[in-house]
Parts: sequence; C-alpha cells; structure tokens
Amino acid sequence: MEVENSGTDWVHLDVMDGMFVPNITFGPKFISDIRPFTDLYFDAHLMVQEPSRFIESFAKAGCDNITVHVEACRDVRATLDLIKSYGVACGLSIKPETPTSVLEPFLDDVDMVLVMSVNPGFGGQGLIPETLDKVRELVSLRGERDFLIEIDGGVNAKTISDVFDSGVDVAVTGSAFFGAKDKAEFVDKMSKGLGDRL
Ligand code: ZN
Repeated sequence: MEVENSGTDWVHLDVMDGMFVPNITFGPKFISDIRPFTDLYFDAHLMVQEPSRFIESFAKAGCDNITVHVEACRDVRATLDLIKSYGVACGLSIKPETPTSVLEPFLDDVDMVLVMSVNPGFGGQGLIPETLDKVRELVSLRGERDFLIEIDGGVNAKTISDVFDSGVDVAVTGSAFFGAKDKAEFVDKMSKGLGDRL
C-alpha cells in the first residue's frame, strides 16, 4: 500500500468516538482488517471517553502501542496497567489546553507521551505554537526516563523544523502526508527535520 512504500516506520491510527471528540472515525474492527497487510508499527491514539472499555479489543486487533487521553480516563494508572497487561506499549496524551503537570504522576509508567498540537477531532488544523513549549517541558521532566515524546496535529513541511528543534521523538503527519505527491520524498525530508529547507 501507498503508506507502506513511503518509507515510514509507524502508522498512527486516530480513533474518535464522537463523545470525547466531536467526530467518529473507526474502531478495532478496521485495525484488525488492515493488520494482515503490513508489518508497520501500529500506533493507536484513542480519542475515546473511558478507553478502558475498549483496551482489550484494540490490543487483540494488533496495535503495537495504545495511547489514551489523561482527560478521558476515570483511573489513568489502571488504564495504563491494563494496556501493559496485553504486552502492548502504552502512551498518555494531553489536549492543547491541558498542562503537562497532570502527566507527572504517570511519567514512570508510560512508553510515550503524546502532545496534541491542535484541538483533537478534525484534520487539517494549524499547529498551536505554545504546544511546542510543552514538548520542551516534557524533555526536561523526562530526565533519566526513556519514554518517547510524540506530537500530533499541524505537522507539515512548514512546521517540521520548529517541531524537530523542540525535541520531539515522533511526529505525526496526516493531511500533509496524504497531500504530498511523492510520499517517499516527503517522509525522507520530514524525518530529517528539513521540510521546506530542502
Ligand atoms: Zn492522533
């Protein structure tokens, strides 16, 4: 498939439930349907209210990572433990208006922190510059821990160099990737943090 041939390592799967965010995308059935077609890393981002209800189905669908929102969980630690119990990597995400301080109690328990750089729910929005300050805060909070920092929303050829400079490990691109004519060239430039500089 086109995504696999682009040279990317990860596929970021935005799951929306129409409740936590005002939009609906797909669920575990879709993920298990596409799982046989690729070995790429499936990075599932659950924009779902009370995601603990669905962790088992997403884990069994073949997700390699499951990220949940700190704002959406009744019991964050129990949800992270549930994800890990299936041998899947766990991530915790914050919306643009949520401070990084709410993540601090969980930073020893996560494999990844996902900073939303747009308001979740719809594609094609511009990156909110202040969210890069959150990435910088997380880089300093991380210290000796080894979780990854991922950013999601508004990452494109224009913003990638600022995104890279903030210290992000994983950058999600949606509209910019699917709008690029040459996807392999796009992935190559973006992964070097070059964007429009090339
Ligand atoms: Zn996402």
